[in-house]
Amino acid sequence: MTCMKAITPQMVLGVRVDNVNYDQALSLIEGFVVSGTPHQVVTVNPEFIVAAQSDDEFRNILNASSLALPDGVGLLWAARFLGRPLQERVTGTDTVQRVAALAAQKDYSLFLLGAAPGVAVATAARLCETYPGLRIVGTHAGSPALGEEDEIVHLVQRAQPDILFVAYGAPQQDKWIARNLERLGVPVAMGVGGAFNFISGRAKRAPRWLQRLGLEWLHRLYREPWRWRRMLALPKFVGLVVRERLTRN
Ligand code: UDP
Repeated sequence: MTCMKAITPQMVLGVRVDNVNYDQALSLIEGFVVSGTPHQVVTVNPEFIVAAQSDDEFRNILNASSLALPDGVGLLWAARFLGRPLQERVTGTDTVQRVAALAAQKDYSLFLLGAAPGVAVATAARLCETYPGLRIVGTHAGSPALGEEDEIVHLVQRAQPDILFVAYGAPQQDKWIARNLERLGVPVAMGVGGAFNFISGRAKRAPRWLQRLGLEWLHRLYREPWRWRRMLALPKFVGLVVRERLTRN
């Protein structure tokens, strides 16, 4: 029996973020697997929060999730600025790797869904190499299009993984999981954005020192300049957080 630790949830602009560190996140995820009942895990970052301001479905999904990880350095800044600091940044990519390590150790099985063709397979190969004994019971690129949904759900149902990672980008991946969570029958389903691209080596992650300086977003913008439009969410996020603090005082 695994003891479930209490999560301290915080609200940032109406979106729930759980104040967990990596160890707590991992032990919660382990508890979800052991429980055998469906749980959705989301990785909240400032882009999510800005999108959730005008997308009620997305906001409700984030707030109803079993675990809302604090991804994105902007969130840590906002939480501190609003007087309710978070312990640490818990990223999707690092969580996938830590969950894979745990899965290899405990014999939990994984299914990797999403990303461009070939990326989930390459990610699986990389994870198996890094974590010997890891069981990956399926990979599939597919798409979040409604027309493909039943076929993909059947694929996952047949494979019966303990943990499903979905890389369709937010908010599509999180909506896809929420729509299908009950019938998928997996104990843990988590939206992981670009994590497969990083783990497989298709995309290069910022060096640790840059991550520690809180500048991973800048590195991403430099490597993938087409993101500039999406990243306009960041100054918008800062503006909303500052307004929230001013209106509170
Ligand atoms: N993606 C996909 N099908 C789609 C839309 C996106 O497989 O219809 C994948 C895309 O290939 C990428 C991931 O979803 O691997 C989203 O990555 P992104 O870096 O945009 O996510 P972020 O980490 O920024 O949330």
